Amino acid sequence: MESIGFIGIGKMGRWMAEHLLNAGYCLTVYDTNQDATNDLQEKGALIAPSIFDLGKENKVVITMLPNSKIVESVVTGEDGLLSSMNPGGLIIDMSSSYVFLTKTLAEKLANTGLTLIDAPVSGGVKGAKAGTLTIMVGAKREYYEKALPILRCMGENIMLVGETGSGHALKAINNYLSAASLYATTEAMILAKKLGIDLSVALEAINHSSGRSFSTQFKFPTFIVPRSFNSGFSLDLLLKDVKMVTSIAKDSKVPIFLASTVEQVYEAASITGEEDQDHTEIIKFLEKITNKSLIESKELECEQQV
Ligand code: NAD
Repeated sequence: MESIGFIGIGKMGRWMAEHLLNAGYCLTVYDTNQDATNDLQEKGALIAPSIFDLGKENKVVITMLPNSKIVESVVTGEDGLLSSMNPGGLIIDMSSSYVFLTKTLAEKLANTGLTLIDAPVSGGVKGAKAGTLTIMVGAKREYYEKALPILRCMGENIMLVGETGSGHALKAINNYLSAASLYATTEAMILAKKLGIDLSVALEAINHSSGRSFSTQFKFPTFIVPRSFNSGFSLDLLLKDVKMVTSIAKDSKVPIFLASTVEQVYEAASITGEEDQDHTEIIKFLEKITNKSLIESKELECEQQV
């Protein structure tokens, strides 16, 4: 079976790569954090000593990295994929990257015989683990079809959304909606609490009403009410997505008033919160500034004892 290179074995990439191994692909992985690749090595993946070596050996390379700048350096940096992959090679950037940088990078590569397409994902660590991710592809149809059998190993809903860059644009827009919804829900729940309404009653009622969302139905009950804050998606990565949206809107001359506010609150939470906090910890920021805990310490003690 075809061999694939995979760069970025983090919270998401680790599971996505494992699905490729399980599907029978010969997989070579690389991460700057060497410990990140140990599990996959035990499951049969080859570990590349460098990006250059990985690029030399693979016609298809997937990147699942924190941001566009890092993707750019992995592709065009010294000893990167551009200098190592053979003409005809395909790079699939599954990170949540910045649409305009993706387009520039793809144009730069086009003259070298390499193709870059974008295929960012939604569904979180849970979806990555289950292989049920939604994948939004930006590519010419011929490259979409070439990538499809590979993407099907990792996702359930795979869509060609437009030309190169469109996947990254839509992914950022999706995450802006997700960030806005989570923040609005957080404000609403603190207000309900202040008015003496029990959190579980508020969520139950809203989940049967028109205000319900993924935040009220999944994120609050799973990560916020038990205060586990372990969704696996960091607040800084979500902030990156919202910042991309305000920047895209500015460049596209489209007013996007609410996004600026959403960016500011996540920015403030990022600055004042702990390093590496989960995005669901946005609640802590609001609790701090309203001096109102969503869950009384007595309730929390009971939950922890159960
Ligand atoms: P992560 O920080 O857990 O993983 C990123 C990995 O990239 C790390 O293991 C890091 O060591 C590695 N890395 C960094 N620089 C590198 C380099 N120069 N060369 C090789 N490896 C390098 O992040 P994640 O949560 O897995 O997210 C990855 C991407 O997927 C991000 O763009 C994020 O926005 C997006 N995303 C995340 C989630 C989620 O729920 N975590 C969901 C959808 C999309």
